[in-house]
Amino acid sequence: MKLILIVASVIILMSTSAYSQTSAQTFSTSQGPVKITPLYHASTLIEAGGKVIYLDPAKPAKFAGHPKADLVLITDIHPDHMDPASIEEVSKPGTEILAAPAVEKTVITAQPIANGESKSWQGWSIEAVPAYNLKRGPGPGKLFHDKGRGNGYLLTYGGMRFYFSGDTEGIPEMRALKNIDVAFVCMNLPYTMPPEEAAEAVKAFHPKVVIPYHYRGSDLTVFTKKLEGAGIEVRLLEWYPQ
Ligand code: ZN
Repeated sequence: MKLILIVASVIILMSTSAYSQTSAQTFSTSQGPVKITPLYHASTLIEAGGKVIYLDPAKPAKFAGHPKADLVLITDIHPDHMDPASIEEVSKPGTEILAAPAVEKTVITAQPIANGESKSWQGWSIEAVPAYNLKRGPGPGKLFHDKGRGNGYLLTYGGMRFYFSGDTEGIPEMRALKNIDVAFVCMNLPYTMPPEEAAEAVKAFHPKVVIPYHYRGSDLTVFTKKLEGAGIEVRLLEWYPQ
């Protein structure tokens, strides 16, 4: 009986440890805490200093119970990133939208921000960085994400640097990133990259913490294993709630 109990509790511990931090993450910065909540796939809620940012709010993410947006950041034109109905759902009068220029053509109220451009907003520095495919596409000579169309974002608040990769492969611009505290890195085939390639790119820029996101269908144990001993903390969050 005792043995059964021990075995049962070990199984429970093991099953919870893979996703030990399923909910919001709070990071301490010199300007106060930054709270980041995974919503679904790429949809992310970021709260700091009483202001609310949504990154790529899109169905089927659920927004009920979450505050409305002061700022919406959009990375790309695909519906898992740019979903007009979700943008409307999280918006209130005065909500600002920053989006890559190709996205701005489809979301009338957005201000364009292109690769390499940066803006200051409510204590944040927002820099649009490249996100694109090197080799993967829907057919010969075509890429799922063309260079220059989509954005990743490098967000700085209170001296802490957060990187959201957008949809990309392990491009040189990602590998060259410096002093990243928390990196949200995509993976999934065929559109972006497999977990082993994502891990290689992460090793190159060596963030303090890496959080896989936009990973539908990927084996995260491959990613985690490749980063073992690299001195990078891997945090696994639940991005696909039932
Ligand atoms: Zn995507």
